Amino acid sequence: MTAVQELQKYQVVVGMEVHAQLLTRTKMFCRCSTDYQGAPPNTHTCPTCLGLPGAMPVINRAAVEATIKTGLALNCRIAETAVFARKNYHYPDLPKGYQISQYELPLCVDGWIEVDLPDGSSKRIRIRRAHLEEDTGKNVHDGGYTLVDLNRAGMPLLEIVTEADITSPEEAYAFLTKLRTILRYLGVNSGDMEKGAMRCEPNISVRTAEQAARGEYGTKVEVKNLNSFRSVRSAIAYEQIRQARVLEDGGSVKQVNMGWDENAQRTVLQRSKESSEDYRYFPEPDLPPLVVMQPWIDAIRATLPELPDVRRARYEANWGVRRIDADILTSEIQVAEFFEQAVAAYATTVGTGDDKPQRVANWITGELFRLIYAAGDAQDLRQLADLPIRPAQLAALLRLVDEKTINLNTAKKVLEMMAEKGEDPDVIVERQGWALVSDTSVIDAAIQAILDANPDELNRFRSGEEKVFGFFMGQTMRATKGQGDPQMVKQRLQDLLKGE
Ligand SMILES: [Zn+2]
Repeated sequence: MTAVQELQKYQVVVGMEVHAQLLTRTKMFCRCSTDYQGAPPNTHTCPTCLGLPGAMPVINRAAVEATIKTGLALNCRIAETAVFARKNYHYPDLPKGYQISQYELPLCVDGWIEVDLPDGSSKRIRIRRAHLEEDTGKNVHDGGYTLVDLNRAGMPLLEIVTEADITSPEEAYAFLTKLRTILRYLGVNSGDMEKGAMRCEPNISVRTAEQAARGEYGTKVEVKNLNSFRSVRSAIAYEQIRQARVLEDGGSVKQVNMGWDENAQRTVLQRSKESSEDYRYFPEPDLPPLVVMQPWIDAIRATLPELPDVRRARYEANWGVRRIDADILTSEIQVAEFFEQAVAAYATTVGTGDDKPQRVANWITGELFRLIYAAGDAQDLRQLADLPIRPAQLAALLRLVDEKTINLNTAKKVLEMMAEKGEDPDVIVERQGWALVSDTSVIDAAIQAILDANPDELNRFRSGEEKVFGFFMGQTMRATKGQGDPQMVKQRLQDLLKGE
């Protein structure tokens, strides 16, 4: 057995904590604007989010609704009563000396999401809780000084915590991808990790099969400040091996916080971890318990969009779209909406056996995605909504192909021009003179001129040399500048060569 195989007897177990900034207009407990990205430091602040004495918090209703909406989409039970609690600790970016969070009575509990794995199987990852809290400010280290910017302080933050159900780096990656898709569908979070709008902290431990059989877990290590799903995956893979080596060498894993060094591709020690008692949680005296009535939950449930799994199943079952395409079309809500609108405009009657939805899918995942990839450095499929091409225009383009007004190659050129200014395809075809010639009198005249100019070839063909047909076909297509409808040219050529 190799060293790595030896270590693989240790199973990795991961519980994920995700912090997602909610897309509300104002902060969690005050009326400061949340639109602080790029603003000068400390310009989006007020006595409440600065933590000045006597300032009182007021609960942001939109943040509570976004949390309930997310809880419902994650199949959680919504608590009848949720209680805000103070989490006490001292840090320069936390002016009050405590963070308002939820502890014993969170808003959402006991949910799950179905995660699609690379091998085609799926797995249910349980959600332990999802609760509301406020974000901290930011420390900026600058030339020997540390400056504090409190624009972010008090931003509404949704914390989602899973059970320790994740058992591989790939599962973690798939879970985060699915969660981000759902949050974006709901419109509650941008999912932009590079802007810190979504932050992931895996709790990673390893255990042997014997420990697993006894229901035991190893000591967990929390990795902080990961800024991409890829680095989450790498950090888990790294910790799995590191912890297994420590145990193989007879040591014990310490409960610590680690950071991730992207350049070195390894975890690095941060500080020893506080246990939850260190935070001395207690109910927030300045806020009443949050009482959630069933009619409110029902009203929020009614605003839920059709979620990705349901959409994907519908594309497959009702429209015959291939699984691989249905997957990618539902990966961002902007793409799914574009697809559905294009199908609606293109296929007025979609029945079984109609391949129109699949053809629309092919054009989106092929040509349109190629345009997006060519335009931007980041491969963000949401950019489909930024292209000047509207779904109905794509449908119009496909109809031009169906009606044999243009061929496929021309259609691809037309699409590229549509992407520039959003012109209608028929306008472009007209202006460029790209319509296929399917007028038989035009084609016949072209063929006759070629037959007259090439009497030798005509004689060879008529005396049985059939391969000369290709010569005439090529000449005719050239004479019609490639815009002769090939089927029709072939048919007319066959007739005229026979002398009909
Ligand atoms: Zn404020």
